[in-house]
Amino acid sequence: MLPYTPGEQPAPGKTVKLNTNENPYPPNPTVVAAIQNAATGALNRYPDPVATAFRRAAAEALGLPGPEWILAGNGSDEILTILVRGFVGENQKLRLPYPSYILYRTLADIQGATWEQVAFEDGWKLPAAFGNTPDDVRLVFLPNPNSPSGTVLSLEEVESLAAQMTCPLVVDEAYADFSGANCIDLVKKHENILVTRTLSKSYGLAGLRFGFLIAQPHVVSELAKIKDSYNCDMLSIAAATAAISDKTWLGDVVAKMNATRDRMTDRLTQMGFDVTPSYANFVWCTHPSGQHHAMYEFLKNNQILVRYMQFPDWGDGLRISVGTDDQIDALFMLLESHLKNL
Ligand code: PMP
Repeated sequence: MLPYTPGEQPAPGKTVKLNTNENPYPPNPTVVAAIQNAATGALNRYPDPVATAFRRAAAEALGLPGPEWILAGNGSDEILTILVRGFVGENQKLRLPYPSYILYRTLADIQGATWEQVAFEDGWKLPAAFGNTPDDVRLVFLPNPNSPSGTVLSLEEVESLAAQMTCPLVVDEAYADFSGANCIDLVKKHENILVTRTLSKSYGLAGLRFGFLIAQPHVVSELAKIKDSYNCDMLSIAAATAAISDKTWLGDVVAKMNATRDRMTDRLTQMGFDVTPSYANFVWCTHPSGQHHAMYEFLKNNQILVRYMQFPDWGDGLRISVGTDDQIDALFMLLESHLKNL
């Protein structure tokens, strides 16, 4: 079985963390106040097993008809687990694009299922065959924007892939708030399009562990049967409800991070990197020297952690998360000094 190795999580301190696509800014103060308020409440009682307050607020914020379109989970990773558990039986298959989020494969392995990867073509497009699912493929994952590339497929491309499929297509929208587009309207039209979301990235709440699924109500009610009984705790439900309700905070932080991402793209390109145009809160870049691992080591020795990624039969490179402007300036300085010595 392929183990999933999460990104390095150093003890809080001097390290500049640009390796796991978190939000570099502190969360919304309204969210912190909601946690404090909930902490003085009924912690001796179990939480609402289906996070009704959050689901109502999310339906309102995202223009969905009602809370029955949403399933809340302990991070979107838990939602992905529920999806694999629900749709893919032993010896059946999960399909995913390559390279993309490695955890999908591990979830299939844990389930006793198999997986097949379909490689992206040039320009991070997917071959039409991605949508052509034989009977044993029971679930398809598509991160949009994709990680590590930060690239997106258009809504038309997603819709036409799903139309070909004989199984559900899960569009993993962990980074969709940074791209300005999403598949929620497609979920309303097609029962085989499901969307997953997280509060770990744009909302700056990775430490909280809160994610959710958007799907047609009969899909949500079936999947709810296989979740753990109290999968979201009372403090997280209160925090997530406050977070999802504040669109102004979200819009401001996303605009700020996207501006930094565009600055990263320009400056790294000037330094000679090949930077994939990104619609997420990170950039994927390669350098003609091929010295990606050495660059990762050099940066790490200087307290900046980026993600070195190597994909067998495909290649390697650096995935660098958007940081604060000061953090990114420090990254530029270090990389420039390193490149001079190559
Ligand atoms: N999907 C993708 C594509 C991701 O990169 C991540 C973050 N590692 C997740 C899902 C999981 O996010 P979380 O469990 O923090 O909600």
